[in-house]
Amino acid sequence: MRRIGIVGAGQAGLVLGIGLRQLGYDVTVFAERAAEDVRGGRLVSNQCVFQPALQRERELGIDFWAAPPIGEVDFAAAGEGVAPAIAWRAALDRPAQSVDQRVKVADWMAEFDRLGGDTWIGRVTPADLDEHAREVDLLIVAAGRGPQFDALFPRDDDRSPYREPQRAIGILYVAGTLDAVPGLTFGMAPAGEFFLLPVLSVHGPVHGIGFFGHPGGPTDVWDGVTDVDQHYETARELLRTHYPWQAALLDNAHPAAPTELLHGRITPVVRHPVGTLPSGAKVLAMGDTAVTNDPVGGQGANMAARAARAYQDAIVERADRPFDEEFMHAAFARYWQHARHATRFTNDLLAPPPDHVLATLDTAQRVPEVAHRFAHLFENPADYEGWLGDPEAAMAYLQSKGPRSGAQTVPRAGTEPAAK
Ligand SMILES: Cc1cc2nc3c(=O)[nH]c(=O)nc-3n(C[C@H](O)[C@H](O)[C@H](O)COP(=O)(O)OP(=O)(O)OC[C@H]3O[C@@H](n4cnc5c(N)ncnc54)[C@H](O)[C@@H]3O)c2cc1C
Repeated sequence: MRRIGIVGAGQAGLVLGIGLRQLGYDVTVFAERAAEDVRGGRLVSNQCVFQPALQRERELGIDFWAAPPIGEVDFAAAGEGVAPAIAWRAALDRPAQSVDQRVKVADWMAEFDRLGGDTWIGRVTPADLDEHAREVDLLIVAAGRGPQFDALFPRDDDRSPYREPQRAIGILYVAGTLDAVPGLTFGMAPAGEFFLLPVLSVHGPVHGIGFFGHPGGPTDVWDGVTDVDQHYETARELLRTHYPWQAALLDNAHPAAPTELLHGRITPVVRHPVGTLPSGAKVLAMGDTAVTNDPVGGQGANMAARAARAYQDAIVERADRPFDEEFMHAAFARYWQHARHATRFTNDLLAPPPDHVLATLDTAQRVPEVAHRFAHLFENPADYEGWLGDPEAAMAYLQSKGPRSGAQTVPRAGTEPAAK
């Protein structure tokens, strides 16, 4: 059987590795850390995974966890006072789920092992790749976002509108009692966004709360925050100041554990997916190594599952023919059919919301169909392009839903909140 090497035991690499092992391929995964080190490690993501990606996990029989269902989206946008200017809820047709990636990766590494996969533990450097490429028919790099393999897979300027991080990110896992919907709570303010969702973590059920602040703005506050209690108090202050309708959200909660915080900034980037090693051998990028989006759109883990499916199908269809450069471009193009939608949706979310988006969010308050459609963009970003990606189409759609209320006055990015 053909030999496939995958650098990176993450959301993308392991789903591909397990899928190929189930078909009898000879698969080696190069994992930076052993499963139990991953499980005991630091927080890595908030990983809200929607139905299409969950379906892939079900198909492979690797949906091992009974995580709390994320059954609805509770959206609100800040107004001039304490009450939000816009607020609506919409049920998801099929619930999403967030299982801590430390739990997923550790359990999937064990499953890959059980299936007879070969795991090599250690950090692969770019200089190691030639040797590994010689041992397999196809070498895939699924090692997450940069910078270690950035030179191998240069930025695709045509597909990458941003050169700098667009959000300062702070995530905290909290335990305790929260007065929130059993789903995804999404708050929008001029300074940035916040999301809250139930997570099945290494500590059992918790909530993950993430703030996504405009760099240099009033919610870009995490640089000096060093411990979890400081993060918790800062998060409460951000809620009181920028999302006052949720001021008490964390009052009866507490940090889940001293390690459960994460700060960072991510530059969204699409890379040229085929790298050339010093020997001339070609390697194929996958997951965040190929396409990194800001996590504000909640797409990366979902895209990883799509990438695993697209690459697996391409590998199987290739049969005994060589995994050459043409194959690699075709495999990525197959993935890009989905990834381009998730990327466009996420990149547009990073920009100040234009009038037709605000009008849509406003109309969603009184037209459940509009709220339902917006909520489902997270699981189906392909709906974005012909809808909110096209201002005329978006306004025509709203007109077909009846007259506007005219009530929406949402402060835009750069304006200070009036309420404290
Ligand atoms: C704060 C935050 C919140 C997020 N929230 C969401 C969300 O709600 N929904 C969503 O869909 N996505 C979310 N994401 C994105 C999601 O976590 C990633 O897009 C996804 O994990 C990418 O999968 P991957 O397999 O490409 O990379 P990773 O999951 O990063 O896996 C890469 C693996 O490669 C290993 N590795 C790295 N370097 C080497 C090396 N040199 N040698 C060997 N192994 C190596 C790493 O240890 C890791 O195990 C979020 C991300 C962040 C940071």
